Amino acid sequence: MTVLNPARTVAELKELRALTGDEDGAQRVAWTDMWAQARAWLRAKLEELPVEVETDEAGNMWATLRGASERALLIGGHIDSVPNGGWLDGCLNLLAGLEVLRRLAAEGTPPVTVRLVDWADEEGARFGRSLLGSSAFSGTIDPEELLELRDRAGVALPDALAAHGVDLRAAPGARRQQANAAAYLELHIEQGPVLEDMGLPMGVVLGTFGVERHRITWRGQAAHSGSTPMHKRRDALAGAAKLALHIRDIARETGDGAVCTSGGVVCRPGIVTSVVETAEQLLDQRHLDGGKLAAMLDAARRAGERFAAEERIAVGWDRIWRIDPIPFHPELIELADAAVREVCGASHRLPSGPLHDAAEVARAGIPTVMLFVQSLRGISHNKIEDTLEEHLQLSVRALDRLADKAMAWIGGGR
Ligand SMILES: [Zn+2]
Repeated sequence: MTVLNPARTVAELKELRALTGDEDGAQRVAWTDMWAQARAWLRAKLEELPVEVETDEAGNMWATLRGASERALLIGGHIDSVPNGGWLDGCLNLLAGLEVLRRLAAEGTPPVTVRLVDWADEEGARFGRSLLGSSAFSGTIDPEELLELRDRAGVALPDALAAHGVDLRAAPGARRQQANAAAYLELHIEQGPVLEDMGLPMGVVLGTFGVERHRITWRGQAAHSGSTPMHKRRDALAGAAKLALHIRDIARETGDGAVCTSGGVVCRPGIVTSVVETAEQLLDQRHLDGGKLAAMLDAARRAGERFAAEERIAVGWDRIWRIDPIPFHPELIELADAAVREVCGASHRLPSGPLHDAAEVARAGIPTVMLFVQSLRGISHNKIEDTLEEHLQLSVRALDRLADKAMAWIGGGR
């Protein structure tokens, strides 16, 4: 007999929506009064359990259920939302985790310590810095880089944090929370269409994509649209256009979830009476496999050289940003897959396009895995974000099963 009550999770999600949302959606932007109110609501529920609740140097809120061993299983989520956000992003993770804590506490002392964490400012909606609390935990934050960030009203990030009792310069102290962490689990809505297209309620996340972002500058020659014969032209846009089409083949041929996007082209002089002299093109490429990502970039570069020669134009590449793929733990992926199969009958493994707090935890070297539950229409960061209630309930059961498997795995001396 178990006290796990997934219907209660759905009811609590609705309670939170009523408390912190309006006709435009969820309004729990981090470092606002509404966010603090949402946290106080969560804290009150946690305090009904035999757990210790604390807030760390970066504003992350932790609830710790002491186990027979100090080695700890972490379960995470984020109660903050984007403005006009959905009712599930981030808070499903927490409320499902709360239900798991309730079940474990009712059964007595768990074999390992279990800690639920509400990461501070996952979304970065107000100051543009995502994963703030989890990057303080992982040790990848540099407070000096954030001192000048301001919101639209001109409020500086350090002042907004201070209003909620957080000293930005002390935030890296949250690293101490890594002590005894043996595994990290996160349940999240998919925020994409893959599981819905496959008719599956849930899947297991293999990791987060590596990303390569470049600005490609094509240089031809401006020339009169009326007097320049076609064979005399050196048209910079022709190179960008050929590449924009070719990257679709590169992604298709690479497979395994590969995506390539030509996000925009700016042409100069950009008038109807001139051949394009320069075309600045933005390219985003993503893959879960670092080698395949590098190969996709190489293929795009080689194609660019070819198109430049064909069009008698020049091409130059500048990297805007890159991040390595962050793979999740292979043994935890197996356990997660088993948990999803037991609860839903079938599972699917997929990469995550968006970054999540789980990526920061994995970067810290803590074995990590995520579960995805289907998103209707693949829509998120929008008030129409939704998931079937039966799928939400399955997701609570799957997280609960996975927590037991992960505790046994930790207890096995890992
Ligand atoms: Zn989220």
